Amino acid sequence: MSSTWHILGAGSLGSLWACRLARAGKAVRLILRDEQRLAAYQAVGGLTLVEQDHRSLYAIPGETHDATGPIHRLLVACKAYDAAPAVARLAPRLAEGAELVLLQNGLGSQDEVADQVPHAHCIFASSTEGAFREADWQVRFAGHGFNWLGNPLNSAVPAWFDDLHDAGIPAQWSVDILSRLWRKLALNCAINPLTVLHDCHNGGLLGHLTEVDQLCDELANLLLRCGQPEAANDLKEEVQRVILATAANYSSMYQDVRHGRRTEVHYLLGHACRVAARHGASVPQLEHLQQRLVDSLKARGLPSD
Ligand code: NAP
Repeated sequence: MSSTWHILGAGSLGSLWACRLARAGKAVRLILRDEQRLAAYQAVGGLTLVEQDHRSLYAIPGETHDATGPIHRLLVACKAYDAAPAVARLAPRLAEGAELVLLQNGLGSQDEVADQVPHAHCIFASSTEGAFREADWQVRFAGHGFNWLGNPLNSAVPAWFDDLHDAGIPAQWSVDILSRLWRKLALNCAINPLTVLHDCHNGGLLGHLTEVDQLCDELANLLLRCGQPEAANDLKEEVQRVILATAANYSSMYQDVRHGRRTEVHYLLGHACRVAARHGASVPQLEHLQQRLVDSLKARGLPSD
């Protein structure tokens, strides 16, 4: 089995992973969306990683979906709404038993991807690292964090896991990755939409704590209903801790809206509301929040799904 890391999506996180793996001498190939993007990438000669004031260029080979050759390991680094269609295009190249590492925030996109590639193994990731694109093919490592990876269907640690340590990518194998993803989703639902609706940084929510607390109560009940008691534990307290610790920051959803980008709401608040409906759980506050957010996105001319 080939040890090459194919990386689907050379955006913020994809580039951050690609550069660190390449720096550690691992075989890496980027998969770009079309010939035009590939030509633009080849014209600049590689990806640039910016860490504080230090910038390094990594001449990582690129290709499009249409290249030939099997893929044994694929890091999926697209946005949640792009992941399944992008992977579907690659399905014919995925070897039997190929491993996919899914970096998408929220929940729902992982199952959409898995449905496209029943012959592959899907490993879910939850990342607190932060990166953003300063320009095409140039990414700034903006926030040190951690990565948890796990496969809900198989607790065995993959043989390649040490590649991450070799590359300086802080990571731990998690046998309860779904609990981590649910917890992160709940934190996101309690904070991010309100920062858009109240047009504020995270600390601005200190003026709306009653609203935040009501959402936390519903989210905690929902987590219990769908078999995630650990993710429900002390949710309200952690949400308040996060609001205080990140008071000066703008949430990712706020930043997406500010820059006129599509949000990942379908896989965050939208997922929570869909799961609640499936379990017959009453979540009036979450539904009202979703409706207000949808109205606000539509009013700005942004996709609301
Ligand atoms: P991003 O910067 O927008 O990068 C996404 C990349 O996917 C873009 O380069 C885009 O290509 C590419 N792409 C989309 N469809 C494609 C296709 N069919 N074929 C090839 N490439 C395709 O997004 P991101 O910030 O890295 O986020 C990725 C995921 O990680 C999201 O779910 C996000 O929530 C999560 N996450 C991000 C961070 C962070 O700090 N950035 C932290 C934690 C979690 P183009 O360049 O051609 O548009």
